[in-house]
Amino acid sequence: MDMLTISIIGAKIIIEMIMFAIGASIFSFLNVIIYRLPRKMILVRDRSRCVSCKHQLSFRDMIPIISWVSLKGRCRYCKAKISFRYTFIECLGGISAVIATLYAGIKLKALGIFLITAVLTVVIFITVDKLRGVG
Ligand SMILES: [Zn+2]
Repeated sequence: MDMLTISIIGAKIIIEMIMFAIGASIFSFLNVIIYRLPRKMILVRDRSRCVSCKHQLSFRDMIPIISWVSLKGRCRYCKAKISFRYTFIECLGGISAVIATLYAGIKLKALGIFLITAVLTVVIFITVDKLRGVG
């Protein structure tokens, strides 16, 4: 492999890492929608709070995947367990963004694929919560 090929592969890996981060961040907001929509809560105005102690979460508590891992799945303030599902959904968003852009390139089509997985994720998890009698 020559230097140019290595540089192109390196650039593609960096682009896909950025895509993963964007996808995970967007799906992080889907977690908010999945929680608040069935509870008829305001979607954007309030900052997120711990569901146990209601402490308002700071920016460093809300970094997708990284916060959950660094806090070992527990609230920084009350140490209550934070469901792995939030992190799982964030990972899903990252993977979905990477697959969409690998498949379709960085084009509108990739955004379309990503949006479809986003809508499906919200519908599926709200339905699961309804069936389980939570939310
Ligand atoms: Zn808490």
